[in-house]
Amino acid sequence: RAKADIGRAVCFYESKMDEAARARHTLAQDLRRAVELDQLDLHYQVQTSVQTGEVCGYEVLVRWNHPERGSVPPSEFIPIAEESGTILVIGEWVMRNACREAATWSKPYKIAVNLSPVQFAHADLAKLVHSILLETGLSPSRLELEITESTIIADKTRTLHVLRQIRALGVTIAIDDFGTGYSSLDTLRSFPFDKIKLDRSFMNEVDDSIQAKAIVRAVLTLGKSLDIPVLAEGVETNHQLEILRIEGCDEAQGFFLGRPKPVGQIFQVEQMADEELASPFSGRVPPQ
Ligand code: C2E
Ligand code: MG
Ligand code: MG
Ligand code: MG
Repeated sequence: RAKADIGRAVCFYESKMDEAARARHTLAQDLRRAVELDQLDLHYQVQTSVQTGEVCGYEVLVRWNHPERGSVPPSEFIPIAEESGTILVIGEWVMRNACREAATWSKPYKIAVNLSPVQFAHADLAKLVHSILLETGLSPSRLELEITESTIIADKTRTLHVLRQIRALGVTIAIDDFGTGYSSLDTLRSFPFDKIKLDRSFMNEVDDSIQAKAIVRAVLTLGKSLDIPVLAEGVETNHQLEILRIEGCDEAQGFFLGRPKPVGQIFQVEQMADEELASPFSGRVPPQ
């Protein structure tokens, strides 16, 4: 009887597995056509100077509007796109459209585009970046590319070679989700990054964990010693921003400063900030 139960459980498990695999397969097929069918969209999230409140740039975050499922989060479809190779088409689409968009802005804000390890392995990335910059007319100094440690771990020699080629174009490189990988410190030793993006898990706990605060402080000290600016991700409260200001953090990004939004909405917000309305920094300047 016990055996039969196990048998049934295994069957159930297998059919669940099948279901999950089928769902992934369907999603992968839908995703392959998403670019052609114009279902992808770009959101922009502001990156702000902690000390002055000035806008430094915008991170570009891809969105997928699935005809039946609605908005599918990148955490769900990027891994599928990486597995199926579709990330090559998506990644190129994101970079081209973000550069084209930013080239039309009246202020020369930087844009930060995320790269997948798969793009390093399978594309001539430096050539692609170069041709997109030429095609869109965006100044190379306005483009930042974000990579994670997984990209470096996948093929260190090749990645560092490609990063050098990209940097020679005048494009900057940020290390994303810093502090969560297996070899964060070694990563910093291997390549002269232009920015360290401290993973948002540290921000989560910075208010009430002495350990998290000590790590934030240590990374800021490390950044200062290596002369690499540090951006804190996931800032959700004024208190967290206050801590970052006291600790001497360079930049911040997070829901408190602005959610990722379609481009039409970020510039509305910015105009309001210019008028010192609804800005998280308004009211902070002492009255004259
Ligand atoms: P990421 O590059 O670390 O991007 C930051 C993520 O944190 C975004 O999630 C953003 O919406 C979220 N976030 C920002 N501020 C806060 C906050 O204050 N609190 C919380 N809880 N979350 C915050 P999103 O847009 O869902 O993207 C998730 C991940 O998907 C990104 O992490 C990135 O790794 C990947 N991704 C997004 N767009 C692209 C892309 O175009 N290409 C590639 N390869 N990956 C992308
Ligand atoms: Mg990122
Ligand atoms: Mg990140
Ligand atoms: Mg992340």
